[in-house]
Amino acid sequence: MDKKELLGLFPEELGAELAEYKLPAFHVKQLFTWLHRGAAFDQMTNLPKALREQLAERYIDQPVTILEKRVSQLDGTVKMLYALPDGNCIEGVLMRYHHGYTLCVSTQVGCRMGCVFCASTLNGCVRNLTPAELLGQVHCANTLIEDGHVGNIVLMGSGEPLDNYDSVCRFLRLVSHQEGLGIGIRHISLSTCGLVPQMKRFAEEGLPVTLSLSLHAPNDAIRRQLMPVANAYKMEDVLEACRYYIEKTGRRVIFEYALNEINSKPEHAAELASRLRGMQCHVNVIPLNAVEEKTLRGADEAAITRFMQELEKRHISVTRRREMGDDIEGACGQLRRHYLEEQ
Ligand code: SAH
Repeated sequence: MDKKELLGLFPEELGAELAEYKLPAFHVKQLFTWLHRGAAFDQMTNLPKALREQLAERYIDQPVTILEKRVSQLDGTVKMLYALPDGNCIEGVLMRYHHGYTLCVSTQVGCRMGCVFCASTLNGCVRNLTPAELLGQVHCANTLIEDGHVGNIVLMGSGEPLDNYDSVCRFLRLVSHQEGLGIGIRHISLSTCGLVPQMKRFAEEGLPVTLSLSLHAPNDAIRRQLMPVANAYKMEDVLEACRYYIEKTGRRVIFEYALNEINSKPEHAAELASRLRGMQCHVNVIPLNAVEEKTLRGADEAAITRFMQELEKRHISVTRRREMGDDIEGACGQLRRHYLEEQ
């Protein structure tokens, strides 16, 4: 029999799942808190030993473990390869900033969005991650930190978060739960390639995370060359969904723009600026990370500087994403890819 996960349940659901054990309410609460602090059953010392042994026979405490890790000599960034109970593996990146630790969380094993520059999507999507597997990544990262814990989360690892909608919403509610890790929704960002119906629904969830939108183009023609999802949704509809998100949540949207040989001309910056005019937004320019299997080349330094200047001239707020962990395959599905090739 496959063991079931407990980590993805709210306290009430945990009580119902374990009804046959007739646990007093305070034991259920203790169990929830232990699980959400990343503890294994045998570490839950204020619960009866016999109970812990029974639970271990039927349930999984922590579904994610660290298979391999690489620490950057440049900036201390840690790249992790995690193992899942079914033998699949996923990646995560732990970054240290002056304001604390930020963890980049994966939402699927692989991805089915097919962006031409991205390594995560090369073998398609294997499966969605469960809420417990999303939480488990945070617990693993916390074991690596000696002077604090994960304070910020970016759902920007492998996978499309809004393509795993229910698990991601459940994760957001559990990770911010006061009896659990209690990470504030405002300390969480979610990055999407722009699934319009899900974006509108998400605006109404009451989970006002920072929305990052992977735009990567000033118009539909260029966007379609880079992102198959642009064939399903027009850029204008994506921007409209962003405006709706801003209106509903009061939060600004961050546009991700990886500069490459086809989207980085000064006239592209001008066109982008005109389309974003009047929006409460920010543009995050990303130097493209070259992926071996992909032929698209990144823009050179001069083009990056010029592109940013063109946006600034038009009063669009823009910054360049800091590159971290350059020496440890910090980017987007590359570590997992190499691991799978070795197997
Ligand atoms: N599916 C989500 C989140 C995962 S990717 C999304 O599309 O937003 C996180 C960010 O990294 C996205 O903006 C994505 O477009 C970008 N990205 C992927 N591969 C990249 C590469 N090789 N170089 C630079 N950015 C990349």
